[in-house]
Amino acid sequence: MSETRPIRRGSRTDIGTAGWGNLVNRTATGGRPVSAALTSEAAQRWRARVSRPRDEVDLEAAEKAAADLLVALGLPVDGPDMVETPRRMAHAYAELLAAPAFDFTTFPNTEGYDELVLVENIPVRSVCEHHMLPFVGVAHIGYLPGDRILGLSKFARVVDFYAHRAQTQERLTKQVAEDLQDRLRPHGVGVVVEAEHTCMSLRGVRAAGSSTVTSALFGSLRENPAARAEFLSLTHNRREAR
Ligand code: ZN
Repeated sequence: MSETRPIRRGSRTDIGTAGWGNLVNRTATGGRPVSAALTSEAAQRWRARVSRPRDEVDLEAAEKAAADLLVALGLPVDGPDMVETPRRMAHAYAELLAAPAFDFTTFPNTEGYDELVLVENIPVRSVCEHHMLPFVGVAHIGYLPGDRILGLSKFARVVDFYAHRAQTQERLTKQVAEDLQDRLRPHGVGVVVEAEHTCMSLRGVRAAGSSTVTSALFGSLRENPAARAEFLSLTHNRREAR
C-alpha cells in the first residue's frame, strides 16, 4: 500500500481538509474566490478522464499463439494439467497490458500549501518490453504544489496507467513525471522508481534481489539544488529503510 507523508510543516489531515472538499465554493490561493459557476471546460480540466484507446486485442488469436509457443517449447498443452494454460496466458497478458482509465481529480490549493508532498511506496507492476516478463517494485512521487493539488490516490492511478503496457522502467518513470507536470502544473515534480526485473533475476545473469532505480525530475525539483537534494535524499532514505 502506498503511504503519504507531507514533509515538515503540515500533516496528512492538513492536506486532506485543505483541498478535498467540493470543487465549488472554495477560495483559491490568495483569497481569490472561485466562481460558483465553474465553466465546464475548467471542470473538465480539473477532473480530466485519463484513458487510452483500447489496443486491438484478439484474445482468440492470442490463445492460439500461446498454445503454439508452449508446444514449440516442448510443453504438453494437450495434457490435462495445461489444457487451459493458453487461455489463461492470453487473458493474463491482456490484463497486464490494458491501462485502467481514471479521473485525474484535482482541487484548488486553498491553503497555498507550498512544501514538498511526498507519496511513497506506490506499487509498480509492469511488463518489460524486451522479454515480456514482469518487473515489480515501488514508486515515490514528490511535488511542490502550484494552484492545484491532486487527490492523493490518483498518484497510484497515474503509475498504474503507465505501467499497464509493454514498458521500460526508464520510460515509465519519465511518462509519469511528464504527465503530472503537464496536467497538474506544479512548481516541481519528481518520480523515483525502484524495481526488480524478473528478466534479470530469473534468467540471464540471475541477479536475484538486484533492483534498478530510475528518476525523473521537472521544474524546481530539477533546477533548485536544495529542493532536488531534499527530494532525492528523502526517497533515498525510504529505499535504505526498506
Ligand atoms: Zn527485460
